[in-house]
Amino acid sequence: MSYSSLSFIAMQKVESMMNSSPAILKRIDNIIKSDEDKRLYRGLLLFNNMKVLLVSDPATDKSAAALHVNVGYMSDPDNIPGLAHFCEHMLFLGTKKYPDENDYHKFLSEHGGSSNASTTTDHTNYYFDVAPNHLKEALDRFSQFFKAPLFTESATSRELNAVHSEHEKNLTSDIWRMDQLDKHTANSQHPYHKFGTGILSVIIPLLFLLFYISPGNKYTLDISQKENGVNVREALLKFHSTWYSSNIMSLAVLGKGTLLHISLVIDSQTSGLKLKLYVD
Ligand SMILES: [Zn+2]
Repeated sequence: MSYSSLSFIAMQKVESMMNSSPAILKRIDNIIKSDEDKRLYRGLLLFNNMKVLLVSDPATDKSAAALHVNVGYMSDPDNIPGLAHFCEHMLFLGTKKYPDENDYHKFLSEHGGSSNASTTTDHTNYYFDVAPNHLKEALDRFSQFFKAPLFTESATSRELNAVHSEHEKNLTSDIWRMDQLDKHTANSQHPYHKFGTGILSVIIPLLFLLFYISPGNKYTLDISQKENGVNVREALLKFHSTWYSSNIMSLAVLGKGTLLHISLVIDSQTSGLKLKLYVD
């Protein structure tokens, strides 16, 4: 038997394993796309109810991934404005498998990549790109955010300053000011009314009342919490364990390899993502 025949049989075997994999509940191959779109797409529904979109593009010069969690600052505890946004920041700062705070950024920057994240009313999105040959290692680091973040005490206190700086930058932005005005004049009983960024000093609350800009600052995340005896790190752990559930997560992965290859790459990374059965 020729090498190509053996290889074909091996691929068929892997394909049938993937089709019968307990990790996959449903596979969708008839995704509608533009005639000019040469990329290949496949949708998967995993055993843990996570939705995945695979994209294969042999011509791409970057691989990329984005994970969306269907929770945002409207789900902040009423007494900790900015917690969802703070959680987003903290996931970058060390996980059980990769405890070094700089590991993720360092790995991406050494391999032509970049990353970012954002928190909105009811969504939090994380994404990165990287040189195609390093997708697997990047995804392994990325997936740890959603499995086992550390939320160390030291990073928690330091990152409050980063969130607060973001808040101060937002204060001078007309778009943010209009956005917060919109929220501030909304029904006070509705979660849309919340302040999502989180703040720090005692002077800030005065500005806060005027410009009350999303999402979170050092006053809402630190000073007032200390005054009230709230442990923000514990609140972060609770927020993550409550909301970061696979059934409200969607993942999109773009790779240079075949759809099957990308499936295999993500298989191990998504297997540890927990279904916590969050029910709306
Ligand atoms: Zn931020």
